[in-house]
Amino acid sequence: MIFRSLTRHREIGANSYLIETKKHRFILDAGAHPKMKGLESLPQFNAVPHDSVDGIILSHAHHDHIGALPVLQRRQPNTQVFMTEPTGEVGAAMLHNSVNVMSRQREELGIHEYPLFTHKEIDQVKANWFYRDIRKPFWIGDTEVECTLFDAGHIIGSAGVLLKHEGKSVFYTGDVNFEAQTIMREADFPTEGIDTLIMETTRGDYARTEGFTRRAEKERLAKVICETFERNGSVMIPVFALGKSQELLLMLHELKQMDLIPPAPVIIGGLSTKLTVLYDHYASKIRRSYEGFRILEDMSTLVAPRKRKKELQYNQNTIYALSSGMMSEGTTSNTFARQFLDNERNTVAFVGYTDPETPGYKLRNAKPGDMIKLDSKLSAIELRARVESFDFSAHATREGIMNYVNQVKPKKVLLVHGDEGAMKWFTKTINESLPNTEVIAPEPKVAIEL
Ligand SMILES: [Zn+2]
Ligand SMILES: [Zn+2]
Repeated sequence: MIFRSLTRHREIGANSYLIETKKHRFILDAGAHPKMKGLESLPQFNAVPHDSVDGIILSHAHHDHIGALPVLQRRQPNTQVFMTEPTGEVGAAMLHNSVNVMSRQREELGIHEYPLFTHKEIDQVKANWFYRDIRKPFWIGDTEVECTLFDAGHIIGSAGVLLKHEGKSVFYTGDVNFEAQTIMREADFPTEGIDTLIMETTRGDYARTEGFTRRAEKERLAKVICETFERNGSVMIPVFALGKSQELLLMLHELKQMDLIPPAPVIIGGLSTKLTVLYDHYASKIRRSYEGFRILEDMSTLVAPRKRKKELQYNQNTIYALSSGMMSEGTTSNTFARQFLDNERNTVAFVGYTDPETPGYKLRNAKPGDMIKLDSKLSAIELRARVESFDFSAHATREGIMNYVNQVKPKKVLLVHGDEGAMKWFTKTINESLPNTEVIAPEPKVAIEL
């Protein structure tokens, strides 16, 4: 088998990987780059001949893994696409939202190629999507390549992908978490008989703080919320609409049940609401914690309008869980910050990753009194609110990943979905603990024999 990365750079970008056997071609994931715009945001699909792929397999529904799927399917119109059912249903919602975002950006930023696909096209390409269950092996199309999906513990529907062909096996982790979150349980991955491991390396650049426990981190969040309410302020938590929103909502419910925070209203909106509907739909159908718990019905403090007509109102003693997590321009968290940051009673609490170069990163690293510009078209505002950061990552720690690699002892490890520092750390650490394992950080389009 031959592996080729279709990404444009070695980074956490537009994930897509080509696997070729003597007779067949497969593609793992078809993501769009979260920071790039226009055609630059797409993987290098032109490296794959038109209408030549025998199967596409998706790990999960985050934009950086699914965002370019309709473009890939246009080039591969007869190819079947395999994924779990939640990934398909959540993925469709994500892609429809993406059409809306791209259409807006076409107007605002003058990106003429936008939208890269339409609502109608998403509905059409869905006819080639096929849902497969976790841990149930299946053949990919008419090929003799066997595929099995394994629960990756990252977000709803997320899966690692095991491919077996002519006595060789390749396992692609997708995005993974080896520890339980509030809803998602820890990954349930195979450890036996894997020759090649294609491994995400998101958190390879930093060690977890000494003595960290998720429980203590939750209690620290509760304390910050209470202190803010004592000053009659409010808390804004910028969150990704998919995954992080739902995990946070259930965590806030948990904290309220434990009397660690008061029963204050929790406001969400837009895309988060739509995706929470889907989390609730699968509440009893997937492997998860709080089985059967429906956030929209069972969380008494939640305020979730389907459509918000007016601008979001500021109230005291309220929790605002707003997307996007990185406070990108034009998103609810970015817009709402304009009436929130100049009040010293308020707190902004970051609970996930913020990429450098994003408004969220800027705010997270600002000091009280700093003037910060969150939107390139608008004036800067003075930061007077308190800013706090918490570690509730949906990605495995590097220690967790190493623990898994040491169990699997693969012949080869391909490092993907990470920056240079992360790849360097993993190369060194795997070389030390498994000297017989070959470690490769694949360059875009370079063929690697598996
Ligand atoms: Zn992800
Ligand atoms: Zn990802």
